[in-house]
Order: sequence, then C-alpha cells, then structure tokens
Amino acid sequence: MAPRPLIAGNWKMNGQLRDLAELQAIADAGRNGLNEGRDILICPPATMLSASFGILGDVAAVGGQDCHPADSGAHTGDIAATMLKDVGARYVIVGHSERRADHGESDELVRAKAEAAMRAGLIAVICIGETEAERDADATTDVLDRQLAGSLPDDVDGDQVVVAYEPVWAIGTGKTPTADDVRDIHAFIRRRLVDRFGDAADGVRILYGGSVKPANAAEFLAIDNVDGALVGGASLKASDFVAICQASPTA
Ligand code: PEP
Repeated sequence: MAPRPLIAGNWKMNGQLRDLAELQAIADAGRNGLNEGRDILICPPATMLSASFGILGDVAAVGGQDCHPADSGAHTGDIAATMLKDVGARYVIVGHSERRADHGESDELVRAKAEAAMRAGLIAVICIGETEAERDADATTDVLDRQLAGSLPDDVDGDQVVVAYEPVWAIGTGKTPTADDVRDIHAFIRRRLVDRFGDAADGVRILYGGSVKPANAAEFLAIDNVDGALVGGASLKASDFVAICQASPTA
C-alpha cells in the first residue's frame, strides 16, 4: 500500500509576520477537508515557527528548514532539532541543495543532522538531487546512490524519514524533468531504500521537488513512487499551495 501522501512547503528565507495571512488561508482550507487522506507540512523561517504552529493547528504540521547536528551548545546562530520540537515542529528539512551549495554541507553532515532530528523526535526530510552538470554527464544515479548511502541514517522507517528527490537544476527555474524520468528515478530510489531497509522502506515517502506548480502537480503526483511534493516558490501563496494539495491523491 502506498504511504499517505505528504505535500510540503518550503518558504526558504521568505516570510514575515504579515504573511501569516497565507497560513490562515491554508488553515481555513483545511477546515474544509484539505488534509483528509494526505499530510500537509509548512516549513516557514524559524522566526515564524511558533506563530505558524498556532495558526495551522492540526490542519498542517510545521517544520524547520535545517538543524544543527548537536542537541545544544556553543553554536551561535544555529538551531537545534530539540528547539524546533520545543516550538511545535514535527519535521525538519535537512540537506536541501541550497544548504549543500551555500554552506558546503557534506553527506556526512546531513546524516548527522538527520540523526539529531530523529533523536529529538522529528521526521527528517532528507533532500537529494543532481546538478545540471551531473545530469549532463549522465551521473544522476551515481550521485543519488552516493547521497542516499551517505545522508541517510541506518535502520530508519517512514515514521522517521522522508526522502525528497529534488534535481538541483529544477529548483526555482521553471524547468522540470519529464514524467518518465521522475518515474524511473523514484523507482531507483525505492529500490535502493528496499535494499538497505527491507520492508521498512515501503513506508518511507519519496517526494518530488523542483518547480512544482498548480499546473503540473497532478501529473507528478500521479506517478508511481511519488508520495508527495516538496514545494518552494509556489508554497508562498496559499491559493497555489492549496491547489497543489488538492491535486494530490489521497490515502
Ligand atoms: C525547493 O526549494 O525545495 C523547491 C523545490 O523550490 P521550487 O518549488 O521553487 O522549485
């Protein structure tokens, strides 16, 4: 049985308190059944987590966009998974390509962050994906293999991790892979998860991310082994995000 779909919004470094109105609109849509048969997640900037949690209630979960691998300590400016949990987060994104690129995050560090998330009782949304140069060099599956092996902790199941396949060249560009490519790559990821985690891999959701919009969401979300979407730009506007949620199959 396919896992319950997850539609996740990543606000990145966008959003101020005035933008809570967008979350209120999502919460209102939730009261009309938006979250029936699917999970919804919003990852606002950390400054908005607490207020977002208060508005979204049980309509949508909130999550962090990153966490430190340690549970506390002298790490000025960083946020621990325990702190995210403390203000109501249920998920945290780790290894987003923007963090891998902007902050030189290695697979090893991403794995340590995922482990910190799990220790704190959060679900880690672990991002993987190839760059355009890697794709042009036909290295996509090699890159994904390396990232899966290096970024995922041992002995995980669907209650602890979500994998997000996000081709870097598709993020924020309006470019997307073909549905056939997404089908093949998600099947490849599923095989690798089953090889490593056995039956527990069946419950691990594999999200597609990269320029998902209301106009293309239904096509991506109908593909085998696509268990939801990680949405950047289109998650900032409630009407677009709600339309993407509505395009997802329900469990
Ligand atoms: C993302 O940042 O994870 C993402 C998929 O962005 P966008 O939807 O804007 O391409």
